[in-house]
Amino acid sequence: MHELALADSVLKAALSAADDAGMDRIDRIVVKIGELQQIERELFEFSLTTVLPAMDDRLAGVQFDLSEELVRFECRSCGTDYGRNDAGIEGDGDQDEAIHFIPELSHAFARCPSCGSPDFEIRAGRGITLERIEGSSEDDPG
Ligand SMILES: [Zn+2]
Repeated sequence: MHELALADSVLKAALSAADDAGMDRIDRIVVKIGELQQIERELFEFSLTTVLPAMDDRLAGVQFDLSEELVRFECRSCGTDYGRNDAGIEGDGDQDEAIHFIPELSHAFARCPSCGSPDFEIRAGRGITLERIEGSSEDDPG
């Protein structure tokens, strides 16, 4: 199950970051989900918030802050940084849907708003990012 594996790797990264920071407990995990990431969002959230935390004491009572990371393109011709709204993709519901399901299709639709080049890199909006964690150590006075 793709979503479970992704959720598992997010939590492993969070636990490893907690180790590095000397935290005994993680209170909050902030995760960004790229809008081009192909994922069953509900299943991912369920895996992340319900299935997996039971496996580690440090995650008892953890809160999740999940948000979508919007896609950002960078033009390879002129270096302009632009978003989906600037890329001429917005406005057609069917096209929008297709891009959500098939990220590679965004290559076929996006155009640089400055020079019109279809040659770009995707700088943000792909994949799952562990943004930060908040936690505490048992030695903490507060
Ligand atoms: Zn350009």
